[in-house]
Amino acid sequence: MPEGDTIYRTARAMQGVLAGKVVTGFETGLALLARVNDDAPVIGRVIDRVEARGKWCLVFFSGDLMLATHMLMSGSWHLYRTGERWRMGMSRMRVAISVEGWQAVAFNVPIAEFHTARTLGRDKRIAGLGIDVLSPEYSVEGGVGALARYGAEHPEAEVGVVLLNQRVMAGLGNMYKSEVAFAAGVNPFRAMRTLTPGEMERLAEFSARYMRANVVDGKGDGIVTYGGNRRTTRAMDREERLWVYRRQGQECRRCGATVMMRKQGEQARSTYWCAECQPWVGDVRVEGRSK
Ligand SMILES: [Zn+2]
Repeated sequence: MPEGDTIYRTARAMQGVLAGKVVTGFETGLALLARVNDDAPVIGRVIDRVEARGKWCLVFFSGDLMLATHMLMSGSWHLYRTGERWRMGMSRMRVAISVEGWQAVAFNVPIAEFHTARTLGRDKRIAGLGIDVLSPEYSVEGGVGALARYGAEHPEAEVGVVLLNQRVMAGLGNMYKSEVAFAAGVNPFRAMRTLTPGEMERLAEFSARYMRANVVDGKGDGIVTYGGNRRTTRAMDREERLWVYRRQGQECRRCGATVMMRKQGEQARSTYWCAECQPWVGDVRVEGRSK
């Protein structure tokens, strides 16, 4: 699944070439979109802005129309110069938007919908998203508040599952979930009620720090969390730059213990951790809390 930073970069690139331009072409293989386009044509509208919100990419057109696409596992947006050959087959195209000089093409997006401001506000999947770790409004305090509120309502929820819950904090995917928990020194299988305020703060802080670092990096594969002496070079495998993700059975880069992996949550997502650096805390009385 694309992580939020990938979608954020995509939206930023699209914003750069599409914003302020008049739509000159609109194609779609999706019947519902085609029908809306027949009633209220996209061609001739101005693209106001392109935004990432969690795993959603939102394209806002003039005249109260917005295209929402969700990437899920396989979807992607490509930007091409006019006339440039697509790198995926026509059969995978779901939406293609042309402006002067450029074409933005969505391939394999499993969800693509038009919205107005009114329907967007009512849509719980988008409007119900938690604070986006990549948004300019995000702060560590805001992240801690989101985690604390959710933890108070769901004290038994496991940290690794909560980090992936887009309604708590939006943006983290499965890879960053493990990396953030490692950096914060928190065992991802612990219950929310066992977290100290300091641990919540570290989770909130590393969530934003890792995601932002990869957005600033600017290139598609710049995923780096491991800050040791083998720090990033482009020649390295992606796994070489990470603390624990996909490193089960290998030595922890910090302490030398063996990195573990276990499936977690209803969706059985792989979670990686070091039992030494992220010790198990089963049942503690957290100071200042009655539970
Ligand atoms: Zn370790």
